[in-house]
Amino acid sequence: AKYVYRFSEGGKDQKDLLGGKGANLAEMAKIGLPVPPGFTITTEACRAYMRDGRVPPELRVEVTMALREIEDHIGRRLGDFHEPLLVSVRSGAKFSMPGMMETVLNVGLNDASVKGLAEFSGDERFAWDSYRRLIQMFGKTVLDIDGELFSAALDAKKAEVRAATDVELSAEDLKDLVGAFKEIVKEQCGREFPQHPREQLDMAIEAVFGSWNTERARLYRRRERIPNDLGTAVNVVTMVFGNLGETSGTGVAFTRDPSTGHSGVYGDYLSNAQGEDVVAGIRNTLSLADLQQLDAKSYGELMQAMRRLETHYRDLCDIEFTIERGKLWMLQTRVGKRTAAAAFRIATQLVDENLITMDEAIGRTTGAQLTQLLFPQFDGSAERELLTKAMAASPGAAVGEIVLDNAQALERTQAGAKVILVRRETNPDDLQGMIVADGVLTARGGKTSHAAVVARGMGKCAVVGAEELDVDRAAGEVRVNGTVLRAGDTIAIDGSTGEVFLGEVPVVDSPVMRYIAEGLQAGLDAAPDDSTRELVQAVDRVLSHADDVRRMRVRANADTAEDARRARERGAEGIGLCRTEHQFLGDRRAYIERVVLAEGEEARQAALAELLPLQRQDFVELLEAMDGLPTTIRLIDPPLHEFLPDLTDLSVKVALAEEKGEADERDVKLLAAVRRMHEQNPMLGLRGVRLGLKIPGLFALQIRAIAEATVQLRGQGRDPRPEIMVPLVGSVRELQIVREEAEGILREVGRDSDTALDLPIGCMIELPRAALTSHRIAEEADFFSFGTNDLTQTTWGFSRDDVEGAFFADYLENGVLTISPFETLDADGVGALVRAGVEGGRSTKSHLHLGVCGEHGGDPESIHFFHDAGLDYVSCSPFRVPIARLEAGRAAA
Ligand code: PEP
Ligand code: MG
Repeated sequence: AKYVYRFSEGGKDQKDLLGGKGANLAEMAKIGLPVPPGFTITTEACRAYMRDGRVPPELRVEVTMALREIEDHIGRRLGDFHEPLLVSVRSGAKFSMPGMMETVLNVGLNDASVKGLAEFSGDERFAWDSYRRLIQMFGKTVLDIDGELFSAALDAKKAEVRAATDVELSAEDLKDLVGAFKEIVKEQCGREFPQHPREQLDMAIEAVFGSWNTERARLYRRRERIPNDLGTAVNVVTMVFGNLGETSGTGVAFTRDPSTGHSGVYGDYLSNAQGEDVVAGIRNTLSLADLQQLDAKSYGELMQAMRRLETHYRDLCDIEFTIERGKLWMLQTRVGKRTAAAAFRIATQLVDENLITMDEAIGRTTGAQLTQLLFPQFDGSAERELLTKAMAASPGAAVGEIVLDNAQALERTQAGAKVILVRRETNPDDLQGMIVADGVLTARGGKTSHAAVVARGMGKCAVVGAEELDVDRAAGEVRVNGTVLRAGDTIAIDGSTGEVFLGEVPVVDSPVMRYIAEGLQAGLDAAPDDSTRELVQAVDRVLSHADDVRRMRVRANADTAEDARRARERGAEGIGLCRTEHQFLGDRRAYIERVVLAEGEEARQAALAELLPLQRQDFVELLEAMDGLPTTIRLIDPPLHEFLPDLTDLSVKVALAEEKGEADERDVKLLAAVRRMHEQNPMLGLRGVRLGLKIPGLFALQIRAIAEATVQLRGQGRDPRPEIMVPLVGSVRELQIVREEAEGILREVGRDSDTALDLPIGCMIELPRAALTSHRIAEEADFFSFGTNDLTQTTWGFSRDDVEGAFFADYLENGVLTISPFETLDADGVGALVRAGVEGGRSTKSHLHLGVCGEHGGDPESIHFFHDAGLDYVSCSPFRVPIARLEAGRAAA
């Protein structure tokens, strides 16, 4: 294998091999931008290092040759006594891992070449400062010495000479410091600081390889879902110096504003400084406009380079640059990160600038970004007092009273208050409080902490890891930066920015949400300023294009006419799942209870007869709201326990009554029945089609209600399009029985009303057996809808109601899972069953209509999977419909 690539040999599409930084350095060199000479050692070399535990021997030879070329090219030798060449050794993986891995600057300096550097630069102080920086960085990252030791020595020196800042140290002071640093190295490692430049280089390269596998790097990758076996590339680049006096400096810049997307360059510049100084924020930086004043020539070159990068990458780029004595050098570039709003604006701007097509534009935005723009927001024009800022863990805006535990949360919400649960960190015991709270705020933990994961799962606003927060539950207080808050005080948290405010902040619909729900004009009217109007317009263009190109249709899961209307407003093209059992929760639960517990045919028929008019009216309203659009109505699928009294509660009630000798005959009977029907595992029990077959007349009632609602609406000149769906089918025979019954009822109702009622009849595919026998099931089905919630539950054997609290947080923390399979489809496992279901179904009926109605129908990554698998539509919650439209478009573009 070839392990070393000169910058002239690589390009931006080789990130796998050269890492992001190396590939982009090569690209810049290729298009003629001023990149300091250098080369990249491939990720393959790193993988060989990890595999063999040593640097591949061929690598040394290749490094020698590449280094020689640089030396010949610029006429200086690494670590020479006069005019030494110095290099930086920088990690650069395929995916950026900011701050995770190692960099060593000034490699090549030693006791002799430091004098050469002083001579060559004409700046003795600079030379000794560079040398002490090398020993410090090398000591820390290559030799693994505690960095505190160096900082302490530096502080001691400053104290000794009464210097307030590093800059005040003289060449002599720094020379002393080099001596002290070398002592530290000797003490800690039992060896001298390596004087040989090549030895320094080889050790630094090996250290960068090794840094791929540090604990924090592994943790970072787990969080960001970056595979562990990629390895990092290593870039060896000629040092250029931004700290050679006032005509030198260093900076970072963006080719357009990454937070708003507005065109025009943005950046920070520090004169007489090195890269780390800009990031560390030691001194206040200058703007690029200031640079123009300082050094018009370099500024002009920089502008030209940035324009070149934008037109070449056809996207926003961020860059790092250095000016060494009036000469501009480009040290890094990449396609820059941006906010959600900026993503939409930039995508359409680039279209208008003829740099990209609309197909590409939708690829530059994501459903996740759109989600960000749809959440309610704090009214930006309102006064607000910032308390602290932490990690934005789950978007949204919430205002409420501080509560510190479950008991307070329940008490205050029952009294009608809105609350924010504030905890040091959360664990499964806090679930109750999280459920009733409008938002969650923690002092500890990151984006995968329990609070963050659970809040996201609930779609609840959360801010986590607010380290400035001192949560004192015993005292009933939260202290933050000198402010003392008590339970009951009002705060506001912004889960999209991580901000925490004191007191009430008004919440408003986002203008983008208004656009989605009420159309472009409404969105534009709701926008407070031009920049937001531009955003609304950009979202409209992107989403309209996604609608034009997508193959999959987008339906919604909605149980009521109101939900259906909301879904339709957001662009739903049908209902993919109406869960009829939801129509019986609450007050109507007793009806189902009576049906289930009825003794004898007559009692059951009577109980069912009561239900018919209610159900018919439900369907009339639903079908009216979805007039002209397909509406999949699923026959009742309750885990029985949700409809019967709780066994324990009832047992206690009866026992207490019996003790007093006043037991109610009905309760005793009810208890016997509940006991008889009690299941240890209701989710695997008498649900779905099983219930329909067990209780004669239950499905029939619903089918009749659908049929009669259809007839009624048709009579009014409407266009209802119901589809009948059977849940939890595992065997074709189950479906066959229901189908025969349904066809009979449809014929009968059709005959009586003189209309043909050939409504589609299909089933859920939500059990592994259904997916595996889909070719058979398709014989009896007009359509399939994948129920990926139950399919995930039954494929993994994870109880969907319990896992989140029970052990998912641990599984996410220790990397067994990178994301909940109930959130993003497990493509390898559950996905294989979906594919089997598609294939089997279509082998029997080549045009079998296929959809998905599990939660995954609204998840971006899963939507791409469903597109690839060949589904005709996804169905998701009304809120997610716009996201699904965009992602289905992206999948097709
Ligand atoms: C499913 O299992 O994916 C599904 C949509 O049905 P439910 O969530 O109602 O069980
Ligand atoms: Mg299901």
